[in-house]
Amino acid sequence: MRDDQAVDVAIIGAGPAGLTAAYQLTKLGYSVTVIEKDPVYVGGISRTVEHDGFRFDIGGHRFFSKSKEVVDLWNEILPDDFIERPRMSRIYYEGKFYSYPLRGFEALMNLGIWRSAMCMLSYAKAKAFPTKDPRSFEQWVVNQFGHKLYSIFFKTYTEKVWGMPCDEMSADWAAQRIKGLSLGGAVIDGLKRSLGLNKRRNDGMAVKTLLETFRYPRQGPGMMWDAARDKVLAGGNRVLMGTALHQISQDQATGRWRVAARRGDEMLTINAGHVISSAPMRELAGRIHPLPATLPNALDLNYRDFLTVALMIRSDDLFPDNWIYIHDPRVKVGRVQNFRSWSPEMVPDEALACVGLEYFCFEGDGLWSASDDDLVALATKELATLGLADPATVVGGRVVRQEKAYPVYDDGYRTNVEEMRGELEARYPTLHLVGRNGMHRYNNQDHAMMTAMLTVRNIQAGERIYDIWAVNEDAEYHESGNEGERAALASERLVPARLGAAA
Ligand SMILES: Cc1cc2nc3c(=O)[nH]c(=O)nc-3n(C[C@H](O)[C@H](O)[C@H](O)COP(=O)(O)OP(=O)(O)OC[C@H]3O[C@@H](n4cnc5c(N)ncnc54)[C@H](O)[C@@H]3O)c2cc1C
Repeated sequence: MRDDQAVDVAIIGAGPAGLTAAYQLTKLGYSVTVIEKDPVYVGGISRTVEHDGFRFDIGGHRFFSKSKEVVDLWNEILPDDFIERPRMSRIYYEGKFYSYPLRGFEALMNLGIWRSAMCMLSYAKAKAFPTKDPRSFEQWVVNQFGHKLYSIFFKTYTEKVWGMPCDEMSADWAAQRIKGLSLGGAVIDGLKRSLGLNKRRNDGMAVKTLLETFRYPRQGPGMMWDAARDKVLAGGNRVLMGTALHQISQDQATGRWRVAARRGDEMLTINAGHVISSAPMRELAGRIHPLPATLPNALDLNYRDFLTVALMIRSDDLFPDNWIYIHDPRVKVGRVQNFRSWSPEMVPDEALACVGLEYFCFEGDGLWSASDDDLVALATKELATLGLADPATVVGGRVVRQEKAYPVYDDGYRTNVEEMRGELEARYPTLHLVGRNGMHRYNNQDHAMMTAMLTVRNIQAGERIYDIWAVNEDAEYHESGNEGERAALASERLVPARLGAAA
C-alpha cells in the first residue's frame, strides 16, 4: 500500500463531470487527484476511441447546450478545434430512407401503393375502432397511426433500444415523444411539397436541413476531454489512469477522506478533504466504509448497456447522414453511425468509409458476451442483409463496449436514488455525487458538467449552497421553492416505464 500526499479534492472518474470539476478546481488553485479506471481514455461515455487512425464515439456526441456557462467552458477548454456540422439523420427501412422525424406523406410515397393502401386501411380501422383509454405504447401509437404504420416505424426500433416489448411500455411516453405528428400534418406536408414549398434535391435525397447544425470537436468529443486533462496536468494536478476506486472512508476525528484505489497489482491511497464521485451510485455505495444503510437501494439500480462495431469498408460513404435508425426486424442493429459525416478527421483514408453499428444490450447477454470476431462478423452480415454494403468490401472491424451506458428509470429507481442521496448528504457533507451514473440521471454532457460546476462552487463556499439535484436536463439550475425543502429530482428526460410501474 502506497500512501500518497494529501490533496484538497479527490475525484473519481475522468469523464465530463470529473474533468470539469478537476479543471475548475485547478484554475482556482486547489490540489486535486483524479482517478480513472480506464487505462487509456479520459472522457468516459464521451470518449473517442482510436484504432489505426480511425476515431469512433460512443453513440456520436453532439455539443449542444442551452446553458451559456457550459458553452463558454467548452470554448475555453477547446478554443480552436470546434467545427460546425450539419445534422442529418433518417430512418432506413427495406432499402429506403425516411426523414426523421417522419414525414407522413413522404413515408407513404416510399412505401409504394400496395403497402400505403394497407397502411390507410389499418389507419381507418384504428380510427373507427380505437382502443379506449390506451394504456400501452402500442395501443397509443396504433390509435394514432394504425397498426401497419406502427409496426413499420415504431415497434422494432423502440424495442431494440429499451429492451422491452411495446405492449408492456406505458402510453405516457408515446404521448410526449410523438406529439405533433399526425396523418393530417402529413397531408399538408405533401401539399407543400407539390407546391414547391419544401426544398428537395434533384436526386430526390432529403436535403440536409441547414438550420440544424451542431458543434463538434474536429477529432471527436474525446478531444475536449483530452484538452481538459492536459490543463489539469499543466496546473500541477494529477490524473491517474488505470486506477479504480477500491474503498472510501472518512476519518471521524479530522473529517478527511481516505480514498483507496487499485492500479494493477498496486494499491494506493489518497488523503482528501472532499471527494467528488462520478462512479455509478450502485458501485459507490458498495465501496463506502462503513457500508451505508441504503446499500440495498443502490444495488437495486439498473443499467442498459451498449456496444458499437466499427467497420472499415472499401467504398464511398454508405449514406450522407450522421446516423440512421434501422427499423428492420431482420437485424439486431439499432443505429448506424457514419463517422466521416461527424468530421472528416474521424476517417484517415479517403478510399475507405467507416461506420459504427450500434447494438443496445444488457451486460452479460448474448450480444455483450459475444467475441469481438463474432460481433464483427454479425455486423458485416447485417450490413449485407440491409443491402448497405457487400461483405467483401469490409477490410477491418473494431468492437467498443460501453457498460452502464444508460441508467434505467424503472419503477423503483426514484425512491432508491432519493434514499441513498438522503443518507449520504446527511452523513457526509464533503462527499459530492455528480454526473450521469454518479447521480443516476439520463443526461447529456452539459448536465454532467453543470452538476460538477455547482459542486465546485459548493466546495469553494464551504457549504452546500447549490442543490445539484435541481439541475434539469437542459443543464439549467432551478432552485427549490420552499426554504429548507429539498428540490425534487428536477425535470427529467422522459423514458418509457413498464406498465403498472409507479409514476
Ligand atoms: C449512446 C449515447 C449517445 C450520447 N450522445 C450524447 C450527445 O450527443 N451529446 C451529449 O452531450 N451527450 C451525449 N451522451 C451523454 C454523455 O455521454 C454523458 O452525459 C456524459 O459522458 C456523462 O459524463 P459523466 O462524467 O457524468 O459520466 P461518464 O461519461 O460515465 O464518466 C464517468 C467516468 O468515471 C469512470 N469511473 C467509473 N467508475 C469508476 C471507478 N470505480 N474508479 C475510477 N473511475 C471510475 C469511468 O471509467 C468514466 O471515465 C450520450 C450517451 C450515450 C450512451
